[in-house]
Amino acid sequence: VSSGVVAHDQAWIRLAGRIRPQLPKEKIEGCHICTSVTPGEPQVLLGKDKAFTYDFVFDLDTWQERIYTTCMGKLIEGCFEGYNATVLAYGQTGAGKTYTMGTGFDMSISEEEQGIIPRAISHLFSGIEERKRAARSQGVAAPEFKVSAQFLELYNEEILDLFDSTRDPDARHRKSNIKIHEDASGSIYTTGVTSRLISSQDELIQCLKQGALSRTTASTQMNVQSSRSHAIFTIHLCQTRVCARPELVNEEVSSLLDGSQPAAEYETLTAKFHFVDLAGSERLKRTGATGERAKEGISINCGLLALGNVISALGDQSKKVVHVPYRDSKLTRLLQDSLGGNSQTIMIACVSPSDRDFMETLNTLKYANRAR
Ligand code: ADP
Ligand code: MG
Repeated sequence: VSSGVVAHDQAWIRLAGRIRPQLPKEKIEGCHICTSVTPGEPQVLLGKDKAFTYDFVFDLDTWQERIYTTCMGKLIEGCFEGYNATVLAYGQTGAGKTYTMGTGFDMSISEEEQGIIPRAISHLFSGIEERKRAARSQGVAAPEFKVSAQFLELYNEEILDLFDSTRDPDARHRKSNIKIHEDASGSIYTTGVTSRLISSQDELIQCLKQGALSRTTASTQMNVQSSRSHAIFTIHLCQTRVCARPELVNEEVSSLLDGSQPAAEYETLTAKFHFVDLAGSERLKRTGATGERAKEGISINCGLLALGNVISALGDQSKKVVHVPYRDSKLTRLLQDSLGGNSQTIMIACVSPSDRDFMETLNTLKYANRAR
């Protein structure tokens, strides 16, 4: 499958479908597999006749590495050129979102099983080293990089800081002082959020682990499921490098002639990479969902609903949609400058292969299909 050409002058959204393998429990309970992939086509077949075509489709035996190389390589490379990127994992609880993103640190997993975020982190740091080495070997000043990270959780339209060690679980019921702003150039930034300055790959992995743990601990203490919140891990990359100017060659020649040094010109590029483990997309059962639970259900659906609308507006280039409803939820507001515009987005719809999940799988595949 060709991953195509990145067109930076327009919204760049790719959709992927991933079917996880059956879990031991599903096998024991005799669930049947009701999904398949059409040979030679990026198409998921649900049951006999429900077909959905995306940019990429991964059947149940697909390795983590394959997911990464197929969907992700270009996104990190884009960040080095100043383009924002977003990866979203969508699907019902238990469909493999956290596994795909790679933030399930509850047990020590093999390197092979590492998900997207740890792979992206290692890709990022090797990219940094590569660029420094290349500059040195060309005799130009090495580029400088500043990497920082944030880890937020969105719960009931409330933003929580997973890097805030002082945060107690009760904070879920208090108003946080985190605010989302937009600057004159349309960039989105937050205030009141812990931003960790990162100096190595290991440090960033540790931060990720710590934040992921804080997410699960807090939800256990509060007896709420982390599946009801969105987790947004963000890497900021700031790069200062010598401008690559084609005319420099001529200037170098002329400066050799008159004996002066060509003045180096620097440029600063910034990019954000959001990794979003979305709240479970399952519909709340009408019975039993009262009070807090019902409220949770409503506002989480509000984030997923708004995201679906934004993505379908962006995907709809042909109809020239002018209004993209970013402001309808905190989730889409936070991601506003990283969805569409000059950014690259991939949404991975995660589904279960088992027949007992048929309806939720159908809903997930339909949701992802809206963006086409
Ligand atoms: P979600 O985050 O969508 O609720 P998880 O990522 O926690 O779902 O996955 C549910 C279970 O399925 C976990 O035990 C996970 O290890 C397993 N799982 C998910 N996807 C895969 C996969 N591709 N290969 C093997 N196990 C998987
Ligand atoms: Mg999860």
